Amino acid sequence: MKAPSYLYGSIQEALSYGANAAMIYTGPPSNSIRKDPEMFQIEKSKQLMERSEFDVERLIIHAPYIINLANSIKPDIHDFGCTFLSQELKRAKAIGAKTLVLHPGSHVKAGMETGIEWIIKGLNQVLDSDDTNVKIALETMAGKGSECGYTFEQLASVFEGVNKKDRIGFCLDTCHVHDAGYNVHDVDGLLAEFDHILSLDRLLCIHINDSKNPKGSHKDRHANIGKGLIGFDALYRIVWHPALRSVTKILETPYIDGKAPYKEEIERLRIG
Ligand code: FE
Ligand code: FE
Ligand code: ZN
Repeated sequence: MKAPSYLYGSIQEALSYGANAAMIYTGPPSNSIRKDPEMFQIEKSKQLMERSEFDVERLIIHAPYIINLANSIKPDIHDFGCTFLSQELKRAKAIGAKTLVLHPGSHVKAGMETGIEWIIKGLNQVLDSDDTNVKIALETMAGKGSECGYTFEQLASVFEGVNKKDRIGFCLDTCHVHDAGYNVHDVDGLLAEFDHILSLDRLLCIHINDSKNPKGSHKDRHANIGKGLIGFDALYRIVWHPALRSVTKILETPYIDGKAPYKEEIERLRIG
């Protein structure tokens, strides 16, 4: 979904698509909820959630892309990411969200191992002094550029290094895992592998996207549902998989002719 800064507007928008979940960005870095809590219209939003089908447990925050904990080449970027992430956790808590999706980061030519070390260092620095209880869902990446976290094993290494393990979960992005080389058509096989390496208990969110590119392409270009190389059938089976019933599903599909496609895509995924 796009990035509206106002919580109330985002929930209204989500409801207009027939959704009971939403993923939002808290806005550009200069927006600090401490300076202007009214901006998010938190009370008004809570009331709207309560009187509608919207489930506050399914309100997901996506951390901004400027956070790169894996950058050991420019430690300033890593430090900035830590500071920003800890503020973002506080914003998420103030908004009432329980989950913050985070891209693990890019190692920028320092190598995967070093990247993962720095992600662990950053997460520990942030979480060791954080009491918000908001969970960080590390997203499965496509492996574009020097992205870390495009295999379940890489994410497991991050998890292993974090002290506060109860604060870490995962977000599975169907386009990303497909682009990373996983066979999304074998839904049961994919989930078994995920469960074995990361545990389905820690799966907090699924990004439902088709992909414009073939499996293993490491491209990360999202396609509309049924319009890509994953196809409708596999995505439908993921949405309705019994093991994933309680997991929040979010669309991140591209606009069509300048219009959000979510209402139609949700309807199609509901009906089959
Ligand atoms: Fe993401
Ligand atoms: Fe995603
Ligand atoms: Zn993506």
